[in-house]
Amino acid sequence: MNGKFPLDEAAGNGLGEQARRSLLQLIFVSTGVLLWGFAWLQFDNNNALLASLEIAVGALLVWAAWHMRQVRWLTPWIYAYLLPTFCFQIYIMLMPAASMTAFVWIYMVPMLAYLLLGRKAGLLLSLPFMLLAVVLYVIRYADLQTAHGLIDLGNAVICGLMILLFVHFYEVRRANAQQTLERLAETDALTGVYNRGRFQQLFEQCIEQGQRSGDGFALVLLDVDHFKQVNDGWGHEVGDRALRHLCKVLQRRLRKTDVIGRLGGEEFGLLLRSTDAQAAEQLVQTLCSQLQQTPLTWGDKQELRITATFGVAHWPSDALDAESLYRRADQRLYRGKAYGRNRVISQGGPLQISELG
Ligand code: GH3
Ligand code: MG
Ligand code: MG
Repeated sequence: MNGKFPLDEAAGNGLGEQARRSLLQLIFVSTGVLLWGFAWLQFDNNNALLASLEIAVGALLVWAAWHMRQVRWLTPWIYAYLLPTFCFQIYIMLMPAASMTAFVWIYMVPMLAYLLLGRKAGLLLSLPFMLLAVVLYVIRYADLQTAHGLIDLGNAVICGLMILLFVHFYEVRRANAQQTLERLAETDALTGVYNRGRFQQLFEQCIEQGQRSGDGFALVLLDVDHFKQVNDGWGHEVGDRALRHLCKVLQRRLRKTDVIGRLGGEEFGLLLRSTDAQAAEQLVQTLCSQLQQTPLTWGDKQELRITATFGVAHWPSDALDAESLYRRADQRLYRGKAYGRNRVISQGGPLQISELG
């Protein structure tokens, strides 16, 4: 599995899970310390009430930073931080004694929102606060009668718009790049199906889901028969095509929820979700005969037929843990090879040959 925390944070949600967690901790600590600094100034300013409030909120933020290490869902915490922070920024713009420079804080809004929430939620959260800030600035400071006043307003608004635009552009590119990298990291380059690592993760997830819901599933291991002869007789290039062809034939018949992965060389794994042992065996029998009946064709009527041997193990009726279930399917696959190849071996039916040792 992928570590301690769930993968709720897809690429479109801003930075990856761990980066968001660290960033959130950094933001909490720095905001907390900043508030303590302001509290000291407020005491100096004889505003003990506001100073005490800032000390308390600062302490809360430092505690939250420490607590972030074990929090499971980050998104509620992000909103719990961003919404009051952005509202507070608006409040200090409204304070009668506020400095004109209080408005610069609004430029932090898109950066924080995009980094922590991604492009969609980031944009939706930033826009209302930024628009509100523009309205407040116009009401409070803008001198729309003079060129000087219009230039001031133009500087503030255009700078804000450009920050929003750049952050949005950057986040779109970053999220796309992250998605591409994640896809590459879990895909087999030759066939486009899942690679061994990802297949293993999905296999373990199937067991976890099964434990929660009681839903059975089948693990199928298959190995192409006499594949060395394909390479030797037709060349490596045709061998590669044959592996891609095999995946296409299997994918055509599998459901969207089923999983196919390349475990290495000419060996593949399938996860057939929400199925009982009998239905799984029937489906795999169909896959086996379809592969045999569907030749790879190329060039000037060139044709190549490949077959494979399949070992099927069912959860929970064959084994309960990943290792035993895998061993079961592997044993059946190699018994199928010993028995003559191009066949399916599962727990029941006429092809049961467990006596073979
Ligand atoms: P069996 O029926 O017992 O499985 O026989 P086999 O010839 O398929 O088994 P063996 O393990 O002897 O050969 C596997 C071959 O698969 C050898 C290897 O060169 C080939 N192979 C592994 N990966 C690739 C690949 O990515 N492309 C191609 N073209 N061949 C590959
Ligand atoms: Mg083989
Ligand atoms: Mg092999």
